[in-house]
Amino acid sequence: MPTGSTADPLPTAGNDPVLILGGGLIGLAIAHELARRGRAATVLSRRRSEAAGFVAAGMLAPHAEGLDGPLLELGQRSLERIPAWVGQIESDSGLGCGLRICGIVVPFASSAERDAYPTAAHGERLERAGLEREIPGIGPTWQAGLLFPQDGQIDNRRRLMRALERACVHRGVHFEEGCEVLELVTEPEGGTDETNHPSRNAGQGREPREAISEQLTAIRLRRADGQQLSLSCREAVLCCGAWSAQLLPLLPVFPVKGQMLSLQGPIGALSRVVFGPGTYLVPREDGLLVVGATSEPEAGFDEGLTPAGQRQLQAGIDALLPAATSWPPMERWWGFRPCTPDQAPLLGEGPIEGLWLASGHHRNGVLLAAISAELVAGALLGEARNDGLLKAFHWSRFA
Ligand SMILES: Cc1cc2nc3c(=O)[nH]c(=O)nc-3n(C[C@H](O)[C@H](O)[C@H](O)COP(=O)(O)OP(=O)(O)OC[C@H]3O[C@@H](n4cnc5c(N)ncnc54)[C@H](O)[C@@H]3O)c2cc1C
Repeated sequence: MPTGSTADPLPTAGNDPVLILGGGLIGLAIAHELARRGRAATVLSRRRSEAAGFVAAGMLAPHAEGLDGPLLELGQRSLERIPAWVGQIESDSGLGCGLRICGIVVPFASSAERDAYPTAAHGERLERAGLEREIPGIGPTWQAGLLFPQDGQIDNRRRLMRALERACVHRGVHFEEGCEVLELVTEPEGGTDETNHPSRNAGQGREPREAISEQLTAIRLRRADGQQLSLSCREAVLCCGAWSAQLLPLLPVFPVKGQMLSLQGPIGALSRVVFGPGTYLVPREDGLLVVGATSEPEAGFDEGLTPAGQRQLQAGIDALLPAATSWPPMERWWGFRPCTPDQAPLLGEGPIEGLWLASGHHRNGVLLAAISAELVAGALLGEARNDGLLKAFHWSRFA
């Protein structure tokens, strides 16, 4: 938890901070980037612990995930930027983030399956002997593999999130923890046509572009002590993760629940991440093996673990690395990925003047945090609005 910030009064609009709605990984990354570039930011965060940033496995895997098109390009640009981004966070916070470009292996039952993988051209082809060399003890099902040495991992759950929070505080970002944003208050730019409120346009056959005639004027919120107030505001970034559509129903963002667990393995038992179908194994430097993840869109916002979900992970461990079935279990947890219909994020200008979007990162938000911060902070500061990638991830593609 960032220290010494929640008791302070909220800043007034006169100080002109950008309001960051949601203090998860993406919100923190954007707040930090804005503050580094000299722009004041205030993070309004409902519940720190529910952020998917504390749930994720931390894989940095544009190639191992088999991404394609603009999403692959976005992921590759982020991957390139990550070492410098992590360096800034580590230097501002004084804390390590656990970044390791350790390579990721994707195993396959046959070489035909391997050769058909969308990102096969970016990886090194492995036969069974190569798989055994890269992943000692790998299960017998796997006959071929792809090694992506350029992919890696970061220890988001234990290190990156804490370091980012501290880096934000170091840069003067103000935090309002336990604060729920209840409503975006807008005003028509050229009149008072009530029917043009973007949150009322969803599913009504209107062109989303028409909705942009509203200007953000305030945020209505409830503070941790229960007090409700309206905060005038001309610029905000919507980073509420899987909950983003609750504030702006026009956005096609929905939760995809994921369950995880961890085991304590011997240090150095595994040096590469193993990205199997339905289950992956992410070895941290201290031997902790992070195992993920279920993908349950049908669960909505249902909280908690399920026996079926945990059995799926156990079956994945048995198939990928049989020896790990005897490693001591450590933790089990779950969270909600913010997904969109094309599984790619919404970045840049939103449907309301003054509202910027950084949401819908689905299963790649850790990978994409660095580039999302660069692009959205850049656009907000008037520097990156013409970046082709921002156009590719504009919300109106779902019109
Ligand atoms: C099981 C699992 C495994 C994953 N593994 C990986 C991985 O290996 N690699 C990878 O790149 N990505 C991974 N991800 C995805 C990644 O975690 C997310 O894409 C990323 O964390 C999204 O960040 P966010 O800031 O948008 O949302 P979050 O981190 O969820 O933060 C949203 C925040 O907004 C706050 N909020 C919501 N509504 C309001 C409101 N009305 N008012 C105020 N605050 C509000 C919430 O309290 C929350 O703190 C995984 C996700 C899951 C669930």
